[in-house]
Amino acid sequence: MTKRVVLIGHPVSHSLSGAMQQAAFDHAGLDVKYELWDRPPIQLGDAIVEIRTDDFLGANVTIPHKERVVPQVDRLTEEAHATGAVNTLTKEGRKLVGHNTDVAGFKVALDKLVGRQKMPRQAVVLGAGGGARAVVYGLIREGFQRVIIFNRHLHRAEGLVKHFGRTASHMELRAMPWHESIIESELAKTKVLVNATSIGLMSSDTPVPGEILTGDLLVLDLIYDNTKLLQAAQAAGAATSDGELMLLHQGAAAFRLWSGQEAPLEVMQEALEKARKQGLRSAEGEPTGAAAAGDLAPEAG
Ligand code: NDP
Repeated sequence: MTKRVVLIGHPVSHSLSGAMQQAAFDHAGLDVKYELWDRPPIQLGDAIVEIRTDDFLGANVTIPHKERVVPQVDRLTEEAHATGAVNTLTKEGRKLVGHNTDVAGFKVALDKLVGRQKMPRQAVVLGAGGGARAVVYGLIREGFQRVIIFNRHLHRAEGLVKHFGRTASHMELRAMPWHESIIESELAKTKVLVNATSIGLMSSDTPVPGEILTGDLLVLDLIYDNTKLLQAAQAAGAATSDGELMLLHQGAAAFRLWSGQEAPLEVMQEALEKARKQGLRSAEGEPTGAAAAGDLAPEAG
């Protein structure tokens, strides 16, 4: 009987994960169908009940449910517990296990960006949503000593710092208000800049002006595109990476969990590139709230 894996989010129609995961299951010869389930928060509980039944191998969870799903599972892995966010569900009988494979995906992306250099110890993170949680936890685990978080709504960044209080007690993890001059002065003291906001996902906006970027920065944008931020960083001489590797490797880790097999990385990467060329652009979710309501340009394609 065909098994089912679903992506639960709201909205999900532009997600790239469907193409990537279906290609992997097909390549492995597994009789699995990957479905996109658009479920508003009020329907999340019913969706979770449904995937406990025998038809389902597991699920991905994306915006806006990654944090909301945490109390609905039976067990959390270390990464899911530490970040307070779940992006993958697996089954143990009818029990659900919550994982956060974004953390593993971020590590691959960071390692590639840093290359042969010594791992830096200071980072600036823009954003305080689910993606930022995986980034901050990844930086803590990597031994970073000073991480500054800027977010449009400062209270969310403060909440994130509070969440990591104990895990980050040996280091400096701070939330700061989103002012260009403060970001500029922090960038002067840092080596790694990560954009974990959705600014640039659906428009050509940039979270920070190009003039404040310097050539010795390593800049990672979680968005799977050569965003305006990355273009400005490249013009300044900085090393850059987009969100492709993180997306690919969080997906590969999820595939391994569901199938017990190694993930066919090349097949998944090809499927991603093809889907992106067809106009899909969300790394693993869409902006919510004001952004979704229209303060960003409409989706291209
Ligand atoms: P969330 O909805 O949880 O968070 C969105 C973040 O973007 C918040 O910090 C929010 O700020 C900020 N933001 C959105 N619009 C604006 C705006 N107009 N001005 C200023 N700040 C804004 O989303 P996620 O954290 O899950 O995802 C964030 C981005 O990272 C997305 O583009 C997503 O596709 C990408 N991502 C990529 C992954 C990958 O594998 N490559 C994995 C995870 C995420 P505020 O809190 O103030 O609203």
